[in-house]
Amino acid sequence: MKKIITSLSSALLIFVASLSFTGVVKSAEFFTIGTGGPTGVYFQTGNAICKMLHKSAISAEHGRKKGTAKAYRCTAPSTGGSNYNIGQIKAGEFQFGVAQSDWQYHAVNGSSKWEGKKFGDLRAVFSVHNEPFQIWARKKAKIKNFAGLEGKVVNIGNPGSGQRGTMEELMKAMGVNNSFFKSTTELTSSEQVKALCDGKIDAFGYSVGFPNGAMEQAATCAAKASPINLTGSQVQGLISGADYYAKAVIPKGTYTNQKKDATTFGVKATVVTSASVSDELVYLVTKAVMENFDDFKKQHPAFGFLEKKNMIKDGLSAPLHPGAIKYYKEAGLM
Ligand code: GLU
Repeated sequence: MKKIITSLSSALLIFVASLSFTGVVKSAEFFTIGTGGPTGVYFQTGNAICKMLHKSAISAEHGRKKGTAKAYRCTAPSTGGSNYNIGQIKAGEFQFGVAQSDWQYHAVNGSSKWEGKKFGDLRAVFSVHNEPFQIWARKKAKIKNFAGLEGKVVNIGNPGSGQRGTMEELMKAMGVNNSFFKSTTELTSSEQVKALCDGKIDAFGYSVGFPNGAMEQAATCAAKASPINLTGSQVQGLISGADYYAKAVIPKGTYTNQKKDATTFGVKATVVTSASVSDELVYLVTKAVMENFDDFKKQHPAFGFLEKKNMIKDGLSAPLHPGAIKYYKEAGLM
């Protein structure tokens, strides 16, 4: 009996030893990337990052050196959007998030909605697609510009979303408050298209990458909606007053029946993290996206114009995380 136990335990020992020598994964660390509504582009962005990471983890497991294994597994749930994500990163609940460049700026500087709640440890990883700020209006409401929203039912977005914050900044620049509209709603990005199609609202404001399926649905449903122009001196004032805004155009033909360019202002979608997230994890996430770049770009049509050299600087006001810098230097991007 003793002999059996001895040989069993030595077999176990040999097995455990061989595990560590062949470098089998010893532990998996789970982390979360905050995104946006399930029909938006952030949700696809977060999930594309996870996909690239898992893909590179699999190839790393094949060619891995002895004993170096630590597996990271990532989830990218749908959330309330930019400011919600930054808040969750600050609270240590999420390790990464997608956030608009304007809200990245305000969070790290403690301005606008982040006044008194400054998140100095916010770190940038890279920027992604452009997000023109869009006001989509149903055809019958005959809204041609911002002034045309007076007395209409308008969705200003759910609290916590980037679109809600940016809509409020636009309203401030235009010198109006909620009483300018007949009424306002706080629907999420995935609820607003149905409400517009059903005629329950006349318009909604949304900062989102293009082209995207939800806006095509707004263009083709009974609302026959289209994005209006947001131009004029107040919008120009917003653009010239801040580096995180830029002029943006949604070219005609992007959506069905969109006969004219829609000219507006916009932000960048960015991927952010915290100084307290490890260099190793940020390095691996950055590397996974950059080294599977063609595949990453195929994950959403809004990624078509991405270029690595712009992604490491455009729209980033928080300092880059050291783990990201390590990769950019190694890859000769910096
Ligand atoms: N920009 C939006 C926000 O911060 C989200 C857009 C998206 O989900 O693609 O709330």
